[in-house]
Amino acid sequence: MSFCNSLQMKEEFILMRRDRGHKPRRKVCSFCVDHVESIDYKDAAKLRRYMTERGKILPRRISGNCAKHQRQVTLAIKRARNIALLPFSQE
Ligand SMILES: [Zn+2]
Repeated sequence: MSFCNSLQMKEEFILMRRDRGHKPRRKVCSFCVDHVESIDYKDAAKLRRYMTERGKILPRRISGNCAKHQRQVTLAIKRARNIALLPFSQE
């Protein structure tokens, strides 16, 4: 259990630091920049960029995605998990 807790603490620390270290400059959604209309759930390498190292989906305020694309990322990750392209969680 303590091993689990320390992993989670580490993850939270990384997220916190990433968030805090960022300048208040407005983040743009990377999918909007690329004019992505639909996100390919088979593109696991890309989807992984929107997950933590433990396999959790990054919250929007950290990923910087807009609501529309964040929904699609979430959906794509869930689909990819169902066909075992991405892990549900990893240690
Ligand atoms: Zn977007």
